Amino acid sequence: MTEPTTPRSVLVTGGNRGIGRAIAEEFLRRGDAVAVTSRSGQGGPEGALTLAADVTDGASLDAAIAAAEEAHGPIEVLVANAGITDDQLLLRMSDDSFESVLDTNLTGSFRTVKRVIRSMMRKKKGRIVLISSVVGLYGSPGQVNYAASKSGLIGIARALTRELGSRGITANVVAPGYIDTEMTAALPEDVQASYRAAIPAGRFADPVEVARVVSFLASDDAAYISGAVIPVDGGLGMGH
Ligand code: NDP
Repeated sequence: MTEPTTPRSVLVTGGNRGIGRAIAEEFLRRGDAVAVTSRSGQGGPEGALTLAADVTDGASLDAAIAAAEEAHGPIEVLVANAGITDDQLLLRMSDDSFESVLDTNLTGSFRTVKRVIRSMMRKKKGRIVLISSVVGLYGSPGQVNYAASKSGLIGIARALTRELGSRGITANVVAPGYIDTEMTAALPEDVQASYRAAIPAGRFADPVEVARVVSFLASDDAAYISGAVIPVDGGLGMGH
C-alpha cells in the first residue's frame, strides 16, 4: 500500500478508545495529522489532537472541526466512528432509546459529514468512511435501534457517492463484526460465547484489523471504491 507523501488532515470521531482509537493510531503510524474527538475532550492517542465534541450537538462539532482545521488544515479524511448501543427487545424499547441511538449513530454521522464536505468539494478530494456494523445488514435481536442506525449509514454513503463521486470524493462503509472493545466486553459471557460459536473465524477481532481496512479505504489505492460496504467480521455476515 502506498504510504502518504504529505500528511493528510484526518478526523476520527470517538477516537479516544476502542475501534476509533485504533483507527487514529493507524493514521498516525502512516504519518498523517490526526484529530480525534471524545465527549470529554480527553484520552486520544499520543500524537493526536484530542478535541471535545458530542456528535448530537452541532455547535460542539462546529468548534471541534474549526480547531482541527486550524491545526491541520481542511479535513481530507473523515472517519465517522462515534457510536452507542442501548439494547432492548422491541416491546420494551422506548421511543427515547430509539431516538437517542439514531441521533448519535446516524444523525451524528450526517452532522459530521455535512460539516467537512464543503472543503472536500473545494479541493476535489476527500475520503469518508462510516463505521457501521454487521448488525446493520444481518440484524440482531434487541437491537432494532442500533440496526436501523447502522443500515442508515449505507444510505448516506451511497447517496453521497452519487452526489459527489465525480468530485474526487469517496464515501464507504466498514461493517465490523465483533471486535474486542468496551462495547463487546459489556456483553454477558454466555452471549459472547454464542457469538464466537457463530463466527466462522471463531474469534472476535482486534480493533487494528478494522483500522487497517479503514486506512486502505482512505488511501489513493482505493480511489475507485465508493458506496461500498466492506465487512470486517470473520465471515459472520456472509451474503448479507
Ligand atoms: P466504544 O464504546 O469502545 O467507544 C465508543 C466511542 O464513541 C467512544 O469514543 C465514545 O466517546 C464515542 N461516542 C459515543 N457517543 C458519542 C457522542 N454522542 N458524541 C461523540 N462521541 C461519542 O465502542 P467501539 O470502539 O466498540 O465502537 C466504535 C464504533 O464501531 C461504533 O460506531 C460501534 O457501533 C461500531 N462497532 C463496534 C463493534 C464492536 O464489536 N465493538 C462492532 C461493529 C460496529 P466517549 O468516550 O466520549 O463516550
